[in-house]
Amino acid sequence: MTEEPLLLTTRGTWIEAMVWSLPGIVPSIALWATGLASATEAFVGMLGALVIAGLLAWWRHRQLVPLVAWLERLRIGRSVTGAVPDSFLYRQLPHPLLAIERETQNLRRQVAASDQLQRALVDAITDPVLVVDGRGYVRLANPAAERHFADKLTDQPLGRFLRDPAILAAIDSAIRANVSSTVSFSPPLDRTRRYTCGIQPMLTREGDAAAVLSLRETSEQVAIERMRSDFIANASHELRTPLTALAGFVETLKGPAKNDPDAQAMFLDTMDAEASRMTRLIDDLLSLSKLEADVHRPPSEDVDLADVVALAISGLEPQLRKNATVVEARMEDGPLQVRGDADQLQQLVANLIDNASKYGRPGAPVVVDVARLSPAGDEAGPLSGRTAIRLTVIDQGDGIAPEHLPRLTERFYRVDKSRSRRAGGTGLGLAISKHIIRRHGGHLNVESDLGIGSRFSVFIPAR
Ligand code: ADP
Repeated sequence: MTEEPLLLTTRGTWIEAMVWSLPGIVPSIALWATGLASATEAFVGMLGALVIAGLLAWWRHRQLVPLVAWLERLRIGRSVTGAVPDSFLYRQLPHPLLAIERETQNLRRQVAASDQLQRALVDAITDPVLVVDGRGYVRLANPAAERHFADKLTDQPLGRFLRDPAILAAIDSAIRANVSSTVSFSPPLDRTRRYTCGIQPMLTREGDAAAVLSLRETSEQVAIERMRSDFIANASHELRTPLTALAGFVETLKGPAKNDPDAQAMFLDTMDAEASRMTRLIDDLLSLSKLEADVHRPPSEDVDLADVVALAISGLEPQLRKNATVVEARMEDGPLQVRGDADQLQQLVANLIDNASKYGRPGAPVVVDVARLSPAGDEAGPLSGRTAIRLTVIDQGDGIAPEHLPRLTERFYRVDKSRSRRAGGTGLGLAISKHIIRRHGGHLNVESDLGIGSRFSVFIPAR
C-alpha cells in the first residue's frame, strides 16, 4: 500500500491551517497583551485567522488531490496522457511531468524489448542455459535445459535435477565470491553422459547475486576421442605384428639361415605374405580415410548393380579359386540401377563375397542375389516402404553368434581373430562396407544361423 502524503491527510490539513493562521493569531495575542485589544477582540481575531487559514488549507488540499492522484498514476506506469489535472495552483507542473512520463514509457518499452531479445537469444541457444539464485532455485531455464533435465525447471531447486557437488560448490563461489569457473561432470543417474558447465556470477534486475550456468554435452566428443585413440592403438598394433615378423626373418636370413637356400626360400615366401598383409592393411586404412572425407558428398553416377557384381566376381577370381568357391549370381530381370560410385560399390560387393568365401565352408557355393523391391520391407530399415535394390550375399558356413552381429562393422572387430588373420583379413572390410553403404544412403541387414551360414543384405535406393 502506498503511503498517503501528509498534506492530503486531515491531520496535514489541520497542521497547515494552524501554521497559516499564525500571522493572525500572533498579532491578536500581542494586541491583547499590550492592552490595545480586549480578550474578546483578540479571540475573534484569532478565530477569524484560524477560519481563513483553514479555508485556504482546505482549498489547497482540493487542488492537490487530483495532482497527487495523477502523479501516483505516473509512478506506477499507468498512462496519464489526456488526464492533466486542471489545477489553478499547479497548472504549469504537469508539462515537465508529462515529458518525464514520455521518457519513462520509452524506457519501459526499451527494457521490455531488451528483455524479449535476451529471452529469445537464451531460448535460441541449443545448449542448456540456467540462471540460479542465491537460494539455489532456478530463475530461468531455456528449452534446451528443459529437454535435458526436466520439463519444468523454473522456480524449482536446482539440486533436484543437478546434484553434482562440484557444480553446487561452483555456483556457491559464483554467488558469494563472484568467481567464474568451468566444471565437467556426469549426471549420477546416467554416467554414460558427460557435460562441461561454465558458471558465471551475475546480478538479477533486483540487484541480487545469482549465477548463470551454460552446459554443453560432450559425451559424443568424448566417445569420438576414445574411438580415435582406440583406432590408432589398433592400427599400430595391426601394422606392428607383420613388421615384427619381417624384422625377425631379416635377422634369421642374415644369421642362422645365411647359407641355407631352402630356409631362405621358405622365409622369403612368408615375408612376402607379411608384406602383402601390411599393404592390404594400408590400402584399407587409406580407403577408410577417403570414405570418411567423402561421406557428405553423395555419389552421382548411374550404376547397374548387375555390372558391379560381374566385375567384383571376376576381380576375386584368384581368391575364389584358392578357396574352391563357386559364386552363383541371381540377377532379377529389369533395371537394377542405383545412383552410386561404381568403384566403391564394386569394393563393397567384393568385400561381402570375399568374406562369404573366407568364412564359408570350403567348396560350398556362395549366392549373390540382386532384386528390385517396390516397396522394400522392414528389413530395409529406413528404406522400408521405398523402392530399393537389394543385394544379398549368402554363404554356407559356421555362421555368426547373435551377440557379435551389432559389432561386425566396427573397425578391427573380428569374431575369431586367428581365423581372420589366417584368411588374410584386416578386420576393416565390413567397416569400409558400412561407410560405402552410408554414402549411398543405404542400409545393411545381417542375418546368421550358427552352423548354417550368413546372409548379408545391402539395400540401396533404386534409381
Ligand atoms: P576381416 O578382414 O577380418 O574379414 P571384416 O570387417 O570383413 O574383417 O569382418 C569382420 C569379422 O566379421 C570377421 O573377422 C569375421 O569374424 C566376421 N565375418 C564377416 N563376414 C562373415 C561371414 N560371411 N561369415 C562369418 N563371419 C563373418
